[in-house]
Amino acid sequence: MDYQKILEEIHQEVLPLVDKGKVADYIPELANVDRNKFGIYLLTLDDNAYAVGDVLEKFSIQSISKVFMLALTISHLGEKVYDRVDVEPSGDPFNSLVQLEHESGIPRNPFINSGALVITDMMISSFADPRAEFLEYVRDLVGQADVFCNKKVAASEKEHGFKNAAMVNLMKSFGNIENDVDEVLDLYFEFCSIEMTCSELARAFRVFANHGRGVIDTKKYITESQFKRITAIMQTCGFYDEAGEFAFRVGLPGKSGVGGGIAAILPDKYSIVTWSPGLNKKGNSLAGMKALELFTTKTGTSIF
Ligand code: GLU
Repeated sequence: MDYQKILEEIHQEVLPLVDKGKVADYIPELANVDRNKFGIYLLTLDDNAYAVGDVLEKFSIQSISKVFMLALTISHLGEKVYDRVDVEPSGDPFNSLVQLEHESGIPRNPFINSGALVITDMMISSFADPRAEFLEYVRDLVGQADVFCNKKVAASEKEHGFKNAAMVNLMKSFGNIENDVDEVLDLYFEFCSIEMTCSELARAFRVFANHGRGVIDTKKYITESQFKRITAIMQTCGFYDEAGEFAFRVGLPGKSGVGGGIAAILPDKYSIVTWSPGLNKKGNSLAGMKALELFTTKTGTSIF
């Protein structure tokens, strides 16, 4: 299959959508990003890469970070993580407070904000230096050292992160947050503000496509059972209240972020990453989602 040609065709087909989405501006620092950017990067398990567009430019990975947070935490704490966070799709926006009240402070899943905030709390309780440990983990997955948090984005989010603050406080009132509320929020914002390129994200996600094992160094990051579970959560909860639509149109497990990135995998075959900052109403990249739909359609690949 001529993947390069397919990516080039897809680029032409999604170009009209690239400036139609809305850049996330509830984090003011993210509103400065040029919404005309577009990149798509495919990395196969047999180490071939195909790319079109702005694939070497760093962007804010935002919620895509939640996959790394969960993987690192379950690799240390195992199944008990799921005592404090459920694994059901929420069907609600990523920052909704509604279910939390009804469900006694137990978040629906680790990929909505409340779930990732609980995971952050677990990391603070379990790691001597969670900040350093997390960065080291992500750098290791990518195979490269220059992965950093953007402190300006984290500060901008902190300044406007009232809903996230409300969530941590609500969960703390139910006894599901052990640490200081501000400490949890600060660390969570830093994790979301990590910047990576499409190419770097594709390398990190290729480890998940390879069942949690490094492709070059064969290091085992998570067990086979943890791989199965993380992939299932990506499939059912990776796209806010549009997870069903993503499964329906694209048919790959993955995770999106409000920075406009989407990372997806076809286990045993490839990782694929798109970046286009304009978002649809549900907070997923408009052109990115279309590009992935076209990719799985044109290549006839999906998990189904
Ligand atoms: N840091 C963002 C927030 O908490 C992440 C949102 C996202 O990418 O879904 O609102």
